[in-house]
Amino acid sequence: MFHHFHDDGIHTKGQGSIDKDDFYKIINFIGRNNILDADIFYEKFKKNKLRNNEVCLTFDDALKCQIDVALPVLEDLQIKSFFFVYTSMFQGKVDNFEFFRYFRMNYFENVDEFYNNFYKVLNYDLKSFFEKNRFIIEQTKIKFPHYSISDIKFRLVRNNFLTKRQYEEIMFLMFKEKQFNPYDYYKNLFFEKSDLQTLNKNGHLIGLHSHNHPTHLEKLSYDEQKNEYVRCLSLISDILNKPKDEIKSMSHPCGSYNQDTLQILKNLGIELGFKQIMSIEPEKGMKKVNNSYLEVARQDHADILRRMN
Ligand SMILES: [Zn+2]
Repeated sequence: MFHHFHDDGIHTKGQGSIDKDDFYKIINFIGRNNILDADIFYEKFKKNKLRNNEVCLTFDDALKCQIDVALPVLEDLQIKSFFFVYTSMFQGKVDNFEFFRYFRMNYFENVDEFYNNFYKVLNYDLKSFFEKNRFIIEQTKIKFPHYSISDIKFRLVRNNFLTKRQYEEIMFLMFKEKQFNPYDYYKNLFFEKSDLQTLNKNGHLIGLHSHNHPTHLEKLSYDEQKNEYVRCLSLISDILNKPKDEIKSMSHPCGSYNQDTLQILKNLGIELGFKQIMSIEPEKGMKKVNNSYLEVARQDHADILRRMN
């Protein structure tokens, strides 16, 4: 599972991002021959014919850096992959999280300087909050080993302590302070429709990743979740000029889903869905890894990099 890439140009280095040399090395480490084209992976998966060593590559979030940095490598090695895209970006409006990431990575010396600034603006003593959540912090570290403890603490404050609105207000104050204008970076950060069309034309498989990319999709009602995936499916189908029933794959944004989600995806005719971690999540009713055809496990590239070193 891949997200961010960087180069020497407009795609600056950020947390967890890799460059094209890292990408080649990861592919080498996995073994080029073990990597199937997305359509072959899909066919073999459906027929239950996948061997233990056979994998595919997936790219989430329709990030422009994937087109500029990763795609040339895929073309060089002739690998066809899955691209899971959320579709609000094609309507000129996105959730702010990608802007927040860019800001965090580019407007501070390092991420800890960002965290310090953030906590200064928040201006609240979080000691007892962190103490209360010690167990969760430890568990998260096990689940996502590539996060540092300060990353985990920040995410906890952002996702659990603050409301989305409070968090955004703090970020907007920081934007102002640094004179950061997010929409200046829109084109550098996100796919355009033509990128999606090119990928499709070149044999990569485009799949769903919701419309707005909510952080906690599972907390939405059945109808709200349905709306997320129906909109995503119809926009992709429109952009690619491809019938809806030819779009068969998806990945869960932030790995968030529940039984409603799985039912909705089934009703939409999705036949292959990916999660974002390798471990079993009992709270989701999972009994094993690859619990169902809509819960296929993926390994984050950062974890593969760690194994290599
Ligand atoms: Zn995503």
